[in-house]
Amino acid sequence: MKDSNFLKENNARQVWQPMAHPADSVANPPTILTEGEGVYITDVDGHRTIDAVGGLWNVNLGYSCDPIKAAISEQLEALPYYSLFRGTTNDKAIELGYLLADLFAPDGMTRSFFTSGGSDSIEVALKFARQYHRIRGEGTRTKYISLEKGYHGTHFGGASINGNSKFRNSYEPLLPGCYHIPGPYLYRNPFGAETDEELAKLSAAMLEREIAFQGANTVAAFIMEPVLGAGGVLPPHPSFMPMVRDICDKHGVLLIADEVITGFGRAGSATGSRHWGVQPDLMCTAKAITNGYFPFGAVMISERVVSVFEDDETGMASVDMGYTYSGHPVGAAAAVACMTETMRIRPWENAALLGPKLKAGLEEFATRYDVIGDVRGEGLMCAIELVSDRATKAPVGKSVPLDFQKAAYEDGVMIRVSANNAIMSPPLILEADHVDKILSAVETGLKAVSA
Ligand code: PMP
Repeated sequence: MKDSNFLKENNARQVWQPMAHPADSVANPPTILTEGEGVYITDVDGHRTIDAVGGLWNVNLGYSCDPIKAAISEQLEALPYYSLFRGTTNDKAIELGYLLADLFAPDGMTRSFFTSGGSDSIEVALKFARQYHRIRGEGTRTKYISLEKGYHGTHFGGASINGNSKFRNSYEPLLPGCYHIPGPYLYRNPFGAETDEELAKLSAAMLEREIAFQGANTVAAFIMEPVLGAGGVLPPHPSFMPMVRDICDKHGVLLIADEVITGFGRAGSATGSRHWGVQPDLMCTAKAITNGYFPFGAVMISERVVSVFEDDETGMASVDMGYTYSGHPVGAAAAVACMTETMRIRPWENAALLGPKLKAGLEEFATRYDVIGDVRGEGLMCAIELVSDRATKAPVGKSVPLDFQKAAYEDGVMIRVSANNAIMSPPLILEADHVDKILSAVETGLKAVSA
């Protein structure tokens, strides 16, 4: 490793960071991480903290998952690369497809299409949705509807269905035919809804209205995260996704679940869709499929879509897209080991157990710290929204979340801040005393910004 002075001097000089203004990264240099162990990360100065970010919602099994590490190095020895483009495949991709069909059977998924990450999975699902309708002779169904505040990655399709203008405006014009309905953001809903249930009914009604307005025969798919993540952790009322499923069925619209965050246990069930008792038509996964150890993703395909493609007699079902790294053997080996561990450990059970403990602690802080406007969470994804005035709900200024984050980090916990939200998505293998530590660092942060 280069010495720490070299790293600090060159930090963010030659590298532009995602989701950051280049000048900001130089003015406030990013923390340089050099080691990870269990639920802990260590920076270049040797400061060790609990990683309450879980990498980027993806390191569900922590930093010491030896079976995945071993699988990666064994695969590098055996076959470091071979493609899945027509005519060839590799053994690990086949094994992974078999495992995923098993893991996702309760969700009604029977096939996988491999990608290199979440954004890639989104693009593939959007394309499959259009192609599905075209094969069935409904080629006019090309539009997509999604949720405001949803996050669906960074490619043009994903940016177009994204529900946050910050990720859209610099890159317009985006894909035509993408429409949004209000998401499950009770705290700032403009409709006067007072409960999640009421807002869920309103949003579902707006979905149906939008489908009617566009003309159902023009709508290909509705896409949603079962629990909105990057938008600030926004769990819908449990009735929402089932209502969405019914509306999609009624109007022949496919339901795509973006499970990039929720796919392998984070919300407290094996998948987010299963958490709400819904079987979507397509599921986008990535992130925790390899525990973050290798860039990889999979679009899971339901029998309803599979049968249209596999029974096709028109010739239109050829899958005319794919990535050089679709089914990369090293990634697939990592995912096979990760899925094997995931099925053994069943990390969603721990998320369902400790998530409420974390949320309850945050809710208790809200009774004592006025800077907390709202507390949200489902499983081990939680957020507090910071406000400067509870009555007007005015968000705190830009420096406050950073000061909060710094104080918590110095006290031993890495927490992510995004706009005026502090987001917690720790590895799902954490233990109760880690939750206590996260809470005490959150309180340190709250004290720092309340002083
Ligand atoms: N969908 C969701 C719900 C996500 O949270 C993300 C990433 N945070 C993506 C898609 C995009 O995934 P990736 O960054 O791997 O491209």
